[in-house]
Amino acid sequence: MTVTRIDGKALAEQLREDVAEGVKALKAAHGITPGLAVVLVGEDPASQVYVRNKVKQTEACGMRSFHHVMEVTTSRDALISLIEILNNDPEVHGILVQLPLPDHLDSQDVIEAIDPTKDVDGFHTSNVGELWTGGRPFVPCTPLGCLKLLKSVDPDIAGKNAVVIGRSNIVGRPMAALLLNESATVTIAHSKTRDLPALCSQADILVVAVGYPNLVKADWIKPGAIVLDVGINRTETEDGNTRLVGDVDFDDASRVAGAITPVPGGPGPMTIACLLANTLEAARRTVP
Ligand code: NAP
Repeated sequence: MTVTRIDGKALAEQLREDVAEGVKALKAAHGITPGLAVVLVGEDPASQVYVRNKVKQTEACGMRSFHHVMEVTTSRDALISLIEILNNDPEVHGILVQLPLPDHLDSQDVIEAIDPTKDVDGFHTSNVGELWTGGRPFVPCTPLGCLKLLKSVDPDIAGKNAVVIGRSNIVGRPMAALLLNESATVTIAHSKTRDLPALCSQADILVVAVGYPNLVKADWIKPGAIVLDVGINRTETEDGNTRLVGDVDFDDASRVAGAITPVPGGPGPMTIACLLANTLEAARRTVP
């Protein structure tokens, strides 16, 4: 069987181009330039890289970028005060607080302070609720990107068996909701799931968001299944270098799967592109 390698980099580039077109059109028709505010608390090196990429890509597609860096010791009150300023700033259409936050700050408590109409990460309970009840939510960017990757190889999801491994609020749960909304038959697996390989081998669509390198092997996969690997794991090679690998053993799984995302170059690049798409959508929704 020949496997299709789903190219997240190329699809993300296409989506960014579409967003840039949408930004131009919104400016021309309504004089509105979408603006994204990114708030970083502390100096976590991985978060700094993510934020730099977000700022760069926001500006590259013609949006305004507002970048706020706060001390690692920032109090809850100071952070919430900044969020309130951003909530009330008409030039800011999207607000993203980079996670994880330092231990003394409760992430969900902080997210709840964001105006849901500017919650382009889709983590506010109002957006989570709308995702499950069929409203018009902002959808978390990584699962939204995964759905776009999936539709690029199979637009016909209804009735398919989907297994999502992982039940986090940022990936597993919203991914399951999106698949359910597409009328897939969805099972959510997690660390307490019994006989995970047998469960996975029933899946036409398998989404893996665990954070465990090369967990999923060929014999977990139904022949021809579509496999989306969300995991990003840093592993050490024999020569002491760092290498990124997913949660799926890519080479092994490629022998059986019908289509599969690589790591890097799968859901990763789609995440920021979907953040830009959500920010454009937030700006569009302000048009009277
Ligand atoms: P998380 O919050 O740690 O959740 C991991 C989930 O995996 C949990 O639900 C856990 O089950 C489950 N799990 C752990 N070990 C398992 C096992 N042996 N078998 C079955 N399930 C198991 O992680 P996350 O934030 O969802 O992220 C998952 C992965 O995706 C990470 O590698 C992360 O770096 C990556 N990620 C990538 C992007 C991107 O591409 N842009 C974005 C976000 C995350 P329990 O609930 O029972 O503990």
